[in-house]
Amino acid sequence: MKFCSNCGHRLHLAIPPGDDRSRFVCDACGTVHYQNPRVVVGCIPEHERRVLLCRRAIEPRHGLWTLPAGYLENGETLAAGAERETREEAGARIGELAPYLMFNICHISQIYLMFRAGLMDVDFAAGRESLEVKLFTEEEIPWNQIAFRVISETLKTYFHDRRRGSFPFAIGDIGTAAGDGRFIGAIAGLDGGKR
Ligand code: ZN
Repeated sequence: MKFCSNCGHRLHLAIPPGDDRSRFVCDACGTVHYQNPRVVVGCIPEHERRVLLCRRAIEPRHGLWTLPAGYLENGETLAAGAERETREEAGARIGELAPYLMFNICHISQIYLMFRAGLMDVDFAAGRESLEVKLFTEEEIPWNQIAFRVISETLKTYFHDRRRGSFPFAIGDIGTAAGDGRFIGAIAGLDGGKR
């Protein structure tokens, strides 16, 4: 961030009084420009033991497969955001949304919330951001062509839980001090149980 969005003056980094970390501060109008994590919402659309994946038509990871997910908009609930992203990327309608997995991705300041959801029908089609949209059984999942670590961890956990017959809400961590996106930290259920 270089210029103040309030008055256009050049910004500098400083620790505001009473704060404990550097912020972009405007000397001209006094505005402190806080930067906070962004929320990504998405879902696992299920249909007859298959899940819907989208092949990305955009960078990054063009051509690789992902679950419908994207940034939450202002004024939007988490569930409405997941429904919108699924409609936009996969042309699909979902229902019975159940919050399922949350991920801290601290090295890129993102929080993911993934729902489980049921596909309302199989009348889906690739949106502008997708090359292709398709239902996969567990055996058909293209594990070496999944776009993001958070998505492969979501799918792995989902199939693991499906074998056990229950889907407890859990929080996981993606990331590493080395910044290579390696998955660190177990996914722990809120009851403290590991899985
Ligand atoms: Zn300003």
